[in-house]
Amino acid sequence: SIGWGLIGASNVARQWIVDAIRAQPDSEILNVLSSSEERGARFATENGIPAHTTDIDAILTDANVNAVYISTANQFHCSQTLAAASAGKNILCEKPVALSIDDARKMIAACRDAGVVLAVNHHLRCNAMHQKLQQLLEAGAIGQLNAVRVFHANFLPQALQGWRVNDPNGGGLILDSTIHDIDTLRFLIGSNPTHVMAMTQSGRLAHDGVEDGIMVVMRFPGDVLVQIHGSYTVPFSEGGVEFYGSNGVLIGRDCMSQRAAGRLFMRNADGEKEIPVHHHNLYHYALAAFSNAVRGTGQPAATGEDGLAALAIALAIRESALTGRQVEVEIP
Ligand code: NDP
Repeated sequence: SIGWGLIGASNVARQWIVDAIRAQPDSEILNVLSSSEERGARFATENGIPAHTTDIDAILTDANVNAVYISTANQFHCSQTLAAASAGKNILCEKPVALSIDDARKMIAACRDAGVVLAVNHHLRCNAMHQKLQQLLEAGAIGQLNAVRVFHANFLPQALQGWRVNDPNGGGLILDSTIHDIDTLRFLIGSNPTHVMAMTQSGRLAHDGVEDGIMVVMRFPGDVLVQIHGSYTVPFSEGGVEFYGSNGVLIGRDCMSQRAAGRLFMRNADGEKEIPVHHHNLYHYALAAFSNAVRGTGQPAATGEDGLAALAIALAIRESALTGRQVEVEIP
């Protein structure tokens, strides 16, 4: 069985991960860490968790805990992962895996040395529509890829307008949302961009230099141009992707959220047709893959290395926005 400790009494844990862990066979949540005694107690009661603590060691020294889910604010992901790895716990860490490439590398090395699983919760690659799209692209369904457009603008709900819009260190659209677009593109195209350019907006919701809107242009190997529009401040927009190939177009609609949603269409010389997708819960899928990895029978949906690559590309995008220059991407 897999005993879990939750590190962080967060919104994402409450909304998605508690349920996803419990959907796995033989898995139970044993404890939750919060920096606030009161918030931890409330989280434990509301979610039927038998214990709560403000001391991470209470979780890390518990031999019944085999895995931890880290969903604290972004600046804590690295130190908590290092502590969990040295205690021999398997780790599902929220994105961004860390705030710097050095930290992400340390986390990967620590988990490798400790022989524990490190996974990063990039959920969009667990969406069945993206998985179908990936298979079609790999099979050459639209010929040679020419260009891609990603639409990921929405309006950040009031309840989430905390650190995302006011923390210049751990907040901002790029490390919160654009990094998901990057991971999804890496998954769909199967490679990393070589060059990026970006312009950001700020001031509609975010302040202190924190970005709340972005347009990115990237070049992928094979001279494939990719464009992303992301925003916290655009209501009534629908997330989507469009892949343009030498003999067809693949269009994904309503496929950039946390929901098991998305419709896929292919347009070519025969006209337009919808490709059926059998949806599954994204977080159940991620937790199933992670649990198999812990049991030694599979790989996580997104590994620590995937988290590092997405972070390196996101930081290159941020550098481009800050300097006004095209940035060459180096994946360490
Ligand atoms: P929250 O703001 O809900 O939680 C982050 C931390 O903030 C918690 O660990 C908690 O600390 C603290 N916190 C929560 N409520 C309060 C409060 N009222 N006052 C003060 N502090 C509070 O963030 P999210 O759940 O939105 O995000 C957490 C992590 O998950 C981030 O890394 C984010 O990037 C990622 N995320 C990933 C998603 C995905 O689908 N992959 C979706 C959403 C977020 P404490 O634990 O000490 O109580």
